[in-house]
Amino acid sequence: MNELVEKHCDVCGECESVELLRLHGSAYHECKICGLIFAKWILKNYEEANEAAFAAELQDYVRKAFDDRRSRRLIRLLHRFEKYRSSNNFLELGCNAGSVLLRAQALGWKTSGVDIAYAATEYGRANWNLNLHTGTIDSAGYPPGYFDVVYSNATLEHVEHPLATLREVARVLRPGGVFYCNTVNWDSYKREILGENWFLIAPTHHIHLYTPKNVEMLCAKSDLTHVRTWTTGARVKANAPGSTFVTPWYLNLMKGPLSMLTRVTRKGDSIHFLAEKPPK
Ligand SMILES: [Zn+2]
Repeated sequence: MNELVEKHCDVCGECESVELLRLHGSAYHECKICGLIFAKWILKNYEEANEAAFAAELQDYVRKAFDDRRSRRLIRLLHRFEKYRSSNNFLELGCNAGSVLLRAQALGWKTSGVDIAYAATEYGRANWNLNLHTGTIDSAGYPPGYFDVVYSNATLEHVEHPLATLREVARVLRPGGVFYCNTVNWDSYKREILGENWFLIAPTHHIHLYTPKNVEMLCAKSDLTHVRTWTTGARVKANAPGSTFVTPWYLNLMKGPLSMLTRVTRKGDSIHFLAEKPPK
């Protein structure tokens, strides 16, 4: 049922790695050569488990998709891509049912989305008439240099082959186009303090967790020019199922100062980065 398969560094292949944290019958390892952090053992039926998890959350996702506060925040972020508009083509990597793409469409973008979750992508195609591909970006077969923007929210931690994924992102971006991505920050105060009490620290679901250095390394190996990495959030609150961790009072008091510090230390909960396909 919950059979596991062993993994190696996605960048270096079979090489030496150091165990960082053992958890849920698996462990996070750090590659001794390139520093990538990966789940050493993942579920053999990872895609099936992923499908079941996303299908179970679909109605909740659809309900939240029209939350006004969330929409306003998203539209502010989407406005930041205006200066890259040329072909007018916008891709979301890990689009779920496509609520971000609905917002991008409303701003005039011609949108495409890709996600391995069938139930979610089928919902977006059937109910929102979106152009969504079920599968990985490699299997979508987009033309080279097609997109002005590739956008990805909370997806890179689920990706089994991040290097191949970023290389495909680089291939489908036009010269001068950009890749915006956010993901979980391994190198965060929250992970350092909470460890396995943070529900995102889960090697059977999140098969890669990244540091700012990791994403810069992956960009360098993918024909993407790294532009900027920043981090956000410093909420030291345990939320792993079954966790008995109680946030000490002094950590609640430190939320503000920690959040300020992350601007310099890049130790916020989430990593955001922007990379550009080099202009010709
Ligand atoms: Zn490596």
